[in-house]
Amino acid sequence: MSPSSKDHLADFLSRCSVGQGVALITAVGTIVCLLLALSFSLISGIAYSPLMIAVVALLTAAPIAYILMVRIDRLRSSERISVENKSRLSTIVEISALPVIIARQSDGVMLYATPRAGEWLKYPIDRLPKSSLLGHYFDPPEAAETFVAEVRQAERVVDLEVRMKTAEGDPIWASVSAVLRDFEGQQAVYATFRDITEQKRVNDRLSALNDTLQAMIQASPLAVIVLNEEGLIQLWNPAAGEIFGWSTQEVLGRSAPTLTEFNLPEFLDLHRRVLRGGGVDGVTLRRQRKDGARIDLTVWMAPLHDAQQRVVSNLALVSDITEQKKAEEALQTSQDSLSRAQQIAHIGNWEQNLDTGELTFSEEAYRIFGRSKATFRPSLDTFYQSVHPDDRDTIRAAFREAIATRRPYHSVHRVIRPNGTERFVRQHAEFTCDSTGRAIRASGTVQDITEFKQLEEQLRQSQKMEAVGRLAGGIAHDFNNLLTVIHGYSQLLLMAVDTEETRHGYAEQILEAGERAAALTRQLLAFSRKQVLQPKVMDVNAVVGNMDSMLRRLIGGNIAFFSMLSPRLAKIRADKSQLEQVVMNLVVNARDAMPTGGELIIETSNLSLLEADPKGDVNMLPGEYVMLAVKDTGMGIQADVLPHIFEPFFTTKDVNKGTGLGLSTVYGIIHQSGGYVTVETKPEHGTTFRAFLPAVLEPVDIAPLTPQPALSYNGETILVVEDEPGVRSLIRTILEESGYTVLAAERGKEALELLSKAGASVRLMVTDVVMPEMSGRELADRLAETHPSIKVLYLSGYTNDQIGHDGVIDQGMSFLQKPFLPEMLIRKVGELLSP
Ligand code: ADP
Repeated sequence: MSPSSKDHLADFLSRCSVGQGVALITAVGTIVCLLLALSFSLISGIAYSPLMIAVVALLTAAPIAYILMVRIDRLRSSERISVENKSRLSTIVEISALPVIIARQSDGVMLYATPRAGEWLKYPIDRLPKSSLLGHYFDPPEAAETFVAEVRQAERVVDLEVRMKTAEGDPIWASVSAVLRDFEGQQAVYATFRDITEQKRVNDRLSALNDTLQAMIQASPLAVIVLNEEGLIQLWNPAAGEIFGWSTQEVLGRSAPTLTEFNLPEFLDLHRRVLRGGGVDGVTLRRQRKDGARIDLTVWMAPLHDAQQRVVSNLALVSDITEQKKAEEALQTSQDSLSRAQQIAHIGNWEQNLDTGELTFSEEAYRIFGRSKATFRPSLDTFYQSVHPDDRDTIRAAFREAIATRRPYHSVHRVIRPNGTERFVRQHAEFTCDSTGRAIRASGTVQDITEFKQLEEQLRQSQKMEAVGRLAGGIAHDFNNLLTVIHGYSQLLLMAVDTEETRHGYAEQILEAGERAAALTRQLLAFSRKQVLQPKVMDVNAVVGNMDSMLRRLIGGNIAFFSMLSPRLAKIRADKSQLEQVVMNLVVNARDAMPTGGELIIETSNLSLLEADPKGDVNMLPGEYVMLAVKDTGMGIQADVLPHIFEPFFTTKDVNKGTGLGLSTVYGIIHQSGGYVTVETKPEHGTTFRAFLPAVLEPVDIAPLTPQPALSYNGETILVVEDEPGVRSLIRTILEESGYTVLAAERGKEALELLSKAGASVRLMVTDVVMPEMSGRELADRLAETHPSIKVLYLSGYTNDQIGHDGVIDQGMSFLQKPFLPEMLIRKVGELLSP
């Protein structure tokens, strides 16, 4: 059979079905067998049954035909599958998004490339140039050789990352899956490419970001700490080490609560809050460093989530605010002490923005104005509303003037507090100017000087009283000398003239007028606190009690009189007659204040003053006092009268009713006894005078009942020292007429000379106290040195501390108050000279 007929047959058979082929082959085989049998029987002469031959041929050819056809069919179907597979594969490759390139392994020549590859590498007709080298697409081209070598070595599919470039020269990154395989009889690299340029960029950015983040965490001044759900430390940056004193190695993987003081319920609460998805926003905590030092921290916490949004850890940022806290505490302390200092000094401060008018007060400024920070909004208007209406215009004008001239502003004015009380304030302010010289800000202080003003007023008042007292004392002293002479001679005259004579009557008139003048002088002396006192420890209640009936007579019937005397009243040291004078004067005034009747109460009580009370009417020293009060329900004292009531000769009473010496005497007596007087009054409601006298612990002095000594006139020599000639000659006359020998001297020096001559004959010296050059006291001291046996009798109208302190004469001193009557002098001298 010629090859072409063979091909035809094969071709024919390949297109027949198995059945057809079997039938055809069997038929052809049977016919061929019959023909062969026929031919053989013709040749050999052996006759074969054609039927039998046909059957045998059929049975032989059929299986052979069948086997042949099955094989042909298998061959045919495998060829078909291969073609189908090939076409399917090429379709898959064609439609695949991944570029595919096949390049010869030996030299890198490209054997095959999908259109995708061309498209990906940006070739205009999406086809890579045929037979180009693989290195043409790699960047750098030599990288292609390395790539091929790696694929060859791998002996299986290998994944690599390569850098390539497009036709336009742009770099691209690809993830390559490649394998070495046969391609049409030669070793070739099959490679699929996946563009990872963008992913690479993202990864690069992410990695850069991560690096930045790491650098930030490392360099952060804040502690950055990450704790997992169990509280184990996952991240601990250097700042955390700095702040807490624990190194990263020491704490990583350790449980935060096991570190010093982390194990606080407070911390665990915060951690739990974060694990529940909450945050912690700047909580201030106080902790301990590893070395035990206290640290103040501000802590922020936030949950960190995994991909499933589950909270897996706690990110904590911690700032060390120890220094800031210390600074804040120091600032607070200094603000507190400034505020305290302002409160103590009653000095507030204020600031005003002159452009906006905004005004701020310190706490003390609020206090001074009697305002509350919560309700009062300081402004220029509200400030002026607080100023006393009479002062408003003046200080407004002064402030404007100060702003205009930029000179410091000073003012003293009154403010009215919401409760109606009036305070005196002193203001100082200075201005801050802008570059053009315009005042833009005023900074000032405001000082409450009310107490200072009161003290100033008290001082002014007491200085005035002092001056008046000195004047009154001086007058009284000279008057006493004159009165002594008037008294003395008028009594001598009375003794010399017969009682029936008219001149006797004249002399009596002179003596009576002298007595009245002496009473006036005594009051002046009392006021000027120059009286000579003979104080004793006494019970004020007893003094008042003894005066009771006399006072009731004095008050009259239409005034109800009560005394409320404290049962356990302390004792005082005072001159009894002076104290009686005080009670009398106060009661008389109270009576006069209630012409139509009312109530008069005398009250006594103890007072313990623990500290000085500068806010009181008088600045009393701390101590124990006995208080004697005289209250009335009378007309009260008007505000314009009040400042003058203690002045001598100040009276609001009719000409013959008041002398104006009652209260000035009270004032003098109480002050001379170390006490204070206050007055509380309300017009039409009454007045209360209170005298406070220092309490003493000694028992009451009881005067001993001494029998009157018999007087003797034995012609003893008496030295009289008196600078006033009238008084001196009167004393001489009285004593000589009484039988004494008198040596008289004008001054101390002269007296000492006389003594040195007369020597021991002098038994007594009668001396004035207040004398120029040498006081009576000094003279007596000198005398005691040379003639200790000579006794001394002091004469004085008043004291200037030459007798004793504050006019209180020393125990054992003999003293006769001027003006005196001759008989008083004679009695005193007689007492002293009696054995
Ligand atoms: P005098 O009583 O002679 O006027 P004082 O020195 O005792 O002098 O008193 C001075 C003035 O003080 C009185 O004129 C009177 O105006 C006032 N005064 C004193 N005590 C009272 C009182 N209890 N009530 C009202 N005014 C008084």
